[in-house]
Amino acid sequence: MELISSQRQRTDIPEKDWLDWKWQIQNRIKDEHELSDYIEISSDEREAISSCSQVFSFSATPYYLRLADKKDPNCPIRLQVLPRKEELSVRAWDREDPLAEESYMPVKGVTHRYPDRALWYLSHVCAVYCRFCTRKRKVSQSSGTPGLEDWQKALQYFREHPEIKEVILSGGDPLNLSDHKLDFLLGELKSIPHINQVRIHTRYPVTLPMRITSELCSVLKKHFPIYLVTHFNHPKELTPLVKERIGMLVKEGAVTVLNQSVLLKGVNNSVETLKDLFYGLTKIGIKPYYLHQCDEIFGSSHFRVPIEEGVELMKQIRGSVSGLSVPLYVVDLTGGGGKVPLPANYLEETKDSSYVFRNYKGDLYEIGF
Ligand SMILES: *Cc1c(COP(=O)(O)O)cnc(C)c1O
Ligand code: SF4
Repeated sequence: MELISSQRQRTDIPEKDWLDWKWQIQNRIKDEHELSDYIEISSDEREAISSCSQVFSFSATPYYLRLADKKDPNCPIRLQVLPRKEELSVRAWDREDPLAEESYMPVKGVTHRYPDRALWYLSHVCAVYCRFCTRKRKVSQSSGTPGLEDWQKALQYFREHPEIKEVILSGGDPLNLSDHKLDFLLGELKSIPHINQVRIHTRYPVTLPMRITSELCSVLKKHFPIYLVTHFNHPKELTPLVKERIGMLVKEGAVTVLNQSVLLKGVNNSVETLKDLFYGLTKIGIKPYYLHQCDEIFGSSHFRVPIEEGVELMKQIRGSVSGLSVPLYVVDLTGGGGKVPLPANYLEETKDSSYVFRNYKGDLYEIGF
């Protein structure tokens, strides 16, 4: 516990509160005044907090803000959570709902795009509102959140569609639901014979790791196997508390934990940062799954990295990092086309009876067939 306590720099917060996820949620920082207890706000940030408030809420857990650099406005944690004036510039390609999730919605909260998988939006609350969020249009607002009646309709829909092999609990953050509700939902889903697997997409292990408790782990274990995909973007997010709670999730909850990151300019678009992130994840028991090209959500163009740069970064990572630690770089196609991989090209030339490849070091190799 020693390391964990040292992360808690404000001496007036008892450890019992600090490690209570509900306390963290109730005490989220939502305005400039509270924020100044944690960091020295720059004048640009100050202005953006008020000018962006109509566009997308600002909110962060005390835990997550503690990871931010007190002085540097370009700190990777600050960039992810604090509004910037660039969010107000909307470009021609920017969309309200880039993945057209609302138009693939047979039942409130359910996006059924791929025949075999359905995404289920269960909560509008997140511990932290990420400035690049694809669901900015709805997270933080209670209006789009399904209620109990909608849950029953969604479950009915899953039961009546045998082509659905997987349901992905998503949001907002599905771990914002109580253990009791999660237990109920997982039980219902697992009782549907054609459901092959259930997945949970959550950023709470990053922004609110104290949400992972022994009680939650027993619920998840009961419904084994559960696949949980979390969302770390920077090695600074891999704290001792995260390590401890991911360990619980894997050992006590018997959960398979994977990670999806978003490639974000200024946050993680360097070989060193991505290497540290991917190796750091594997070190604590998390398999890197996807690296996403940042979606064309309105007001996010300042985060977007050109695809050529992303491909080049991945090329440099492949070969110098264990294959186990390398995610797949993908783009989720604007308009609802689904995800497509963005592979690096290693094939230099196709000859009559051979292929010429360039390996990760830049050397040429010819193989026959
Ligand atoms: C990303 C996504 C999925 C899951 O895709 P995988 O490639 O299986 O991880 C499912 N449904 C929707 C609507 C999605 O956006
Ligand atoms: S945790 Fe996920 S859903 Fe919530 S704001 Fe961040 S990116 Fe959006």
